[in-house]
Amino acid sequence: TIQPVYNFNAGPSALPSSVLEKAQQELLNFRGTGMSVMELSHRSSTYEEVHNNAITRLKTLFSIPENYEVLFLQGGASLQFSMIPMNFLQKGQKAAYVNTGVWAEKAFTEAKLLGDPYEAASSKEGNHRFIPNINDLQYNQGDAYIHITSNNTIYGTQWRDFPDTGDVPLIADMSSDIMSKPIDISKFAMIYAGAQKNLGPSGVTVVIIRKDMIEKANPNVPTILKYSTHYKNNSLFNTPPTFGIYMLGEVLGWIEEKGGLQTLAKQNEEKAKLIYDAIDESNGFYVGHAEPESRSLMNITFKLADQELEKKFLEEAKQGGFVGINGYRTVGGCRASTYNAVPVEACKALSEIMIQFQKNN
Ligand code: PMP
Repeated sequence: TIQPVYNFNAGPSALPSSVLEKAQQELLNFRGTGMSVMELSHRSSTYEEVHNNAITRLKTLFSIPENYEVLFLQGGASLQFSMIPMNFLQKGQKAAYVNTGVWAEKAFTEAKLLGDPYEAASSKEGNHRFIPNINDLQYNQGDAYIHITSNNTIYGTQWRDFPDTGDVPLIADMSSDIMSKPIDISKFAMIYAGAQKNLGPSGVTVVIIRKDMIEKANPNVPTILKYSTHYKNNSLFNTPPTFGIYMLGEVLGWIEEKGGLQTLAKQNEEKAKLIYDAIDESNGFYVGHAEPESRSLMNITFKLADQELEKKFLEEAKQGGFVGINGYRTVGGCRASTYNAVPVEACKALSEIMIQFQKNN
């Protein structure tokens, strides 16, 4: 037998075990077809049902208003960094970007290749420990859009509330906190996320887009990179990542069974608190990276005051079956990603070994 692990990977990351078991049961004979869901034609009615079911579940669970559409794309969140300026940053316009970390900056860099973006605010000074105040964002009426990163996977910071940007479309990269709690979708013109953290396996990118954005987008964009192409074809313009979309639908079914996003939000708070408490009650033995009011409930970043002890801690955590506790490769320290599918028990176990390790050292 395989020793159970506590999976705190940052993405791809933990999936609900019940979903994996169901996928295993259905793997060789999907709904009586005698085939795997991976072997079905993406034009078959059986697959179409899987596809539409995932879209409907997403709309219902996330309370997406009527004037928005859900698209399933490929290329990860990283392709969205390019598609957004291609489609929305028209000649003569500017776009505002909030720089809250590595991913936010990558999005900004792509926009610079295609047009004229500028920084609306930055947390770079002080190494991205905080989310800028929503009242301090510098952007202008007439901008093509303002882009934010709702949760900064590497630094472990998260927006608590979102600005009302009026006529300036607000676009958010929600890769690492999508559907971790209910939000008011109507504040956003577009939301996007790679599925591989909160929603399923890698390979599917979820885009939630207000329909007027599709209509007013730049027409001079390669066909497959236009949002309108995927909208008109119900995300079946070309072969979609069928297995990933099937898994996404099953994860959404699991969220539904758990009681929806309110329940998840409460649980995510409880999970993060277990680990933040171990940090806060350590008298400086563990040092959190994010300022308390900007702390992420999805990625908990900290280091040990003593670097040698940090190595020892990471080694002991590894021995104890904790996976993915090392910080991002360029940042170091420790990071625990506590996405939707990470059970409360895993967070409890982590907080316990943190407390125990401090006692022993
Ligand atoms: N944005 C955020 C906030 C992320 O955490 C990541 C991946 N870790 C990305 C974008 C890049 O996503 P992808 O690998 O799907 O392109």
